[in-house]
Amino acid sequence: MENDEAIVVRSIDFSETSLIVTLFTKRFGKIEAIAKGGKRLKSPFESALDILTQINVTFIQKKNDSLDILTESQVIRRFQVKQNNLHGLHAAYYIAELINLFTEKNLPNSQLYNFATEKLFTLVNPAPINVVNYHVAQFDFQLLHENGTQPAIDFCAECGQKIITQNNRQIIHFKNSAGGIICNNCTEICRKLKQPYSLLKPETLNLLKHFETEINNKIKTQPNDNNTISQFHNNTILDTLNLLNNYINYQLGSKPRTQKYLN
Ligand SMILES: [Zn+2]
Repeated sequence: MENDEAIVVRSIDFSETSLIVTLFTKRFGKIEAIAKGGKRLKSPFESALDILTQINVTFIQKKNDSLDILTESQVIRRFQVKQNNLHGLHAAYYIAELINLFTEKNLPNSQLYNFATEKLFTLVNPAPINVVNYHVAQFDFQLLHENGTQPAIDFCAECGQKIITQNNRQIIHFKNSAGGIICNNCTEICRKLKQPYSLLKPETLNLLKHFETEINNKIKTQPNDNNTISQFHNNTILDTLNLLNNYINYQLGSKPRTQKYLN
């Protein structure tokens, strides 16, 4: 029997009374478990199994591909958005879907757990769309970092050459299949070979570098740290979000279902 805290990232009906839930736990990583009687009003789960709820959970781990068995759960925090905060709600659903798509079962990542819960509960509070977009873009970047697929932003992802951006006028390109920015020589080769790449604005690169610096220095963006966010133009935040989402789609080979509700 194991105890841990977790975020409910998916919850589906299994039978009249039971649910199958996907939980991102702090110490055990992602688990898939059956909650027998989870749909009954009076169950040991305290109706704690709604998506995005942070819970304390007790479960029995099963070997191989069998579902774990949930025996008990209590709510730590419910994800309740304030004042018709649809942007925040959609962003939170997107983050939950990404966690489910990117994490492996039973592979602990408490750093990602902490970051994800902090982001999710930041999104409860109403905020302008650019602030929500910033949080989602930052989550995208952190997730890619934790997953070992963070895009290259300091050197050419094709040839490894260091790319120095001294001024904000330099033209840089980004290539999903290479895994990051590419130098002018490699861009020329891609152009000749008709391989897809896109233009990356210097401001977008700056924001990506800002995310990287925050990870390296373990800086936490505070929920109300709008001074940091307001350094970046709304269009820059949106461009960065779109770039990272496209990169994520490339990595996954498909588009997350909830991505269309963003922006
Ligand atoms: Zn190159």
